[in-house]
Amino acid sequence: MERVSVRLRIQRERWPRPALILTDTPRPRCPDCHGIGGWAHTCVSPEGEYDGTDWFECFCWDSGKRWKILPVPHFRRTGYSDEPPF
Ligand SMILES: [Zn+2]
Repeated sequence: MERVSVRLRIQRERWPRPALILTDTPRPRCPDCHGIGGWAHTCVSPEGEYDGTDWFECFCWDSGKRWKILPVPHFRRTGYSDEPPF
């Protein structure tokens, strides 16, 4: 499968700490995930019981590609900061 390009999008992240990040995004017209970015697969144990749901990430994007561009300050300070300055 061929990855054509990286489509970056600015997202606001709340976890592990508030920040603005750049992320790769799924291809809107991906024939496999239809822009959703992946699909869920319900697992069934050998006994036939529900065994959780696996999320398969589509090949058209890489959710590991993310760059923090701006930490967003908290209004309620926690009293410490180990954030390196950007
Ligand atoms: Zn896809």
